[in-house]
Amino acid sequence: MSITPLMPVYPRCDVRPVRGEGCYLIGERGERYLDFASGIAVNLLGHGHPKLVKAIADQAATLMHTSNLYGMPLGEKFAQRLVDTTFADTVFFTNSGAEAVECAIKTARRYHYANGEAHRHKIISFDNAFHGRTLGTISATSQPKMRDGFEPLLPGFTVVPFNDLEAATAAVDENTAGFLVETVQGEGGVTPATQEFLSGLRKLCDDQGLLLILDEVQCGYARTGTFFAHEQYGLTPDIMAVAKGIGAGFPLGACLATEEAAKGMVFGTHGSTYGGNPLAMAVGLTVLDEVLGEGFLDHVKGIGARLRSALEQLIPNHDMFEDVRGLGLMLGVKLKDDFDARAFVAHLRDNHGLLTVSAGQNVVRILPPLVIEESHVAECVERLSAGARSFAEAAA
Ligand SMILES: *Cc1c(COP(=O)(O)O)cnc(C)c1O
Repeated sequence: MSITPLMPVYPRCDVRPVRGEGCYLIGERGERYLDFASGIAVNLLGHGHPKLVKAIADQAATLMHTSNLYGMPLGEKFAQRLVDTTFADTVFFTNSGAEAVECAIKTARRYHYANGEAHRHKIISFDNAFHGRTLGTISATSQPKMRDGFEPLLPGFTVVPFNDLEAATAAVDENTAGFLVETVQGEGGVTPATQEFLSGLRKLCDDQGLLLILDEVQCGYARTGTFFAHEQYGLTPDIMAVAKGIGAGFPLGACLATEEAAKGMVFGTHGSTYGGNPLAMAVGLTVLDEVLGEGFLDHVKGIGARLRSALEQLIPNHDMFEDVRGLGLMLGVKLKDDFDARAFVAHLRDNHGLLTVSAGQNVVRILPPLVIEESHVAECVERLSAGARSFAEAAA
C-alpha cells in the first residue's frame, strides 16, 4: 500500500510542529519558527495563551458536550454578546468556516422561500473567492482546482469578476437571492473589496430585495483592526459567515443574521450535533473578552500599520517585491512575475524559520497572531529581507 494514513490531499512540508509558545512554533527537532501564518489566520492570541488554556481546561472538566436537544446557557450568553456588538440579531454556531457559509446560503434561500418567492434562489459570487470545501461552498467559486471532478455541483450559483460592480449588476435577474462576497479576499490574494464595489452591492440589495452575505471567515474577528472588516466600509450585511479567529484555534464558526434575513430559519430547518457545544462556547467567550478588551483593536491597528510600513520599506531594496496589500494584520506581499510565491514561502520556512502562507495572484500572506509586538515585526522583516536576498541569489 502506498497511500498515506492521512489522506494525501495536502502536500505537507517538513515543518512538523509539536509545540507552540506565543508567536513561535517549535518543531520535532526543537527548531523554532516565527509564526506569521497563525494556522491561516486562526491563532489570533498566539499559542498557549494562558487564559484560553485555562478556559478550555476548566470547561472540559465541567461540561464539554450536551447536544442541542437541551438549553445552552453559555451559548445564549455568547450569542447575546455577538448580537450586542454586531449588526446581527441572531447567531447559529458551527464547527468550521465552510459550515458557516453553508448556513448563510441556506438562510438566504430560505428567506425568499418564506417570502413566497422560492424561485429567488441564485447566489452571485466572485472570481478568486474562497468559501470552503463542501459541495455547496465549492459551487460558489470558479476555481477549477477546487471544482474539477466533483461535478455536478450545487445549481444556482453565478460567478462574476470581483470588484466589478457592473458585472455584478448585470448578473442579477428575477431568480437572484443575493451576493456572497469576502470583504477582503484571503486565499484569492489578500484583495480588499473597493468601497465603491461593496457600497454598490449594498445598494443593489436594498433596491431589489436581495441579501448581502459577507464571508468574513478570514478577514473578520479583529484581523483587519476593526472587529469586522465591513465596519471600515460603513455598511452592514444581512448575513455573515465567521470562523477562523473566533475560536483562536478551537474549531468554531458562526453564521450571523438580522432578524429579517433569518425569518425562514424556524424550528427544524437547520442543525448541528457539535455546533455551539459548551466547550466551544467557553472558548468563544474567552476569545471575545480578549478581542473586545481594552486596547486590543487599537493594538492591531497600530502594529498593523507598523508592519505594513516596514514591509513597504523592503520594496525598493528587493527586486522581487511588487506591492504590499491588505488591511490591519491581514497583509500580503505581491511578488513580481519572475518569482513564485509558493517557492518563496517554502524558502522562508525552510531556511529562515519564518512561517507565512501563499495566496493566489502570487502573493505571500502575512497573518501573524494579533498579539505580536514590535520585536516580532522587526524579526519578521529581518528574516523576510534575508530570505529575499538568498532566494534571489539562488534564482540568479
Ligand atoms: C478558510 C475560509 C473558509 C472555510 O473555512 P473552513 O473552516 O476551512 O471550512 C471560508 N471562507 C473564507 C473566506 C476562508 O478564508
